[in-house]
Amino acid sequence: MPIRRLILLGAPGAGKGTQAQKLMADLAIPQISTGDILRAAISRGTALGQEAKTYMERGVLVPDEVVIGLVEQRLAEADAATGWILDGFPRTPVQAEALDALLVGLGQPLEAVVLIDVPEAQLIERLTGRRSCAICKRIYHLRFNPPPPGPPYPSEHPDRPCELVQRPDDALEVVSKRQAVYRQSTEPLIAYYREQKKLQVLDGDRPPEIVYSELRRLLG
Ligand SMILES: [Zn+2]
Repeated sequence: MPIRRLILLGAPGAGKGTQAQKLMADLAIPQISTGDILRAAISRGTALGQEAKTYMERGVLVPDEVVIGLVEQRLAEADAATGWILDGFPRTPVQAEALDALLVGLGQPLEAVVLIDVPEAQLIERLTGRRSCAICKRIYHLRFNPPPPGPPYPSEHPDRPCELVQRPDDALEVVSKRQAVYRQSTEPLIAYYREQKKLQVLDGDRPPEIVYSELRRLLG
């Protein structure tokens, strides 16, 4: 049986979002992220949504039992019956255990956890090399998608060259910090699923279409 209930893990810049988008479209299964669930529950004014809102308004983390309750309701919706991709949840082994219990209760056990693995030096290069033009907003990457040599520049402002700037989020210090936070918070989760023999590691240091075909092969 092909795998249709999975968790995707990957550091910022690993390309998890791109892979999830393709999977959703090709397998017709939803990607379920806690951010989206929270926003939806709050806008619909459900009981759990209102509870979550009170925590968010105070700027504190929404407690596990509220998040898990929301995930449970979301998984019970019709579009999730044939499968799903969980994104950004669980974040901790405690949440992972609660999720396991919940899924067993639903008769929909988790089938695989796929880690899109990219060496950190590579992730840092991917993220810090991004530049966009302050004038035409075009996005480049210094190494992987370099701006055209010029002049003349094939831009919408032919009178002057593109003015390439880096987003503050893509600065080296910010990117490095985010990688460290990700690594620290995700390592226990990876260990948890490795122990359960559900972890599959995919070499993400390749072009996205290659990574995707590997991913599809792995899911069967
Ligand atoms: Zn430009």
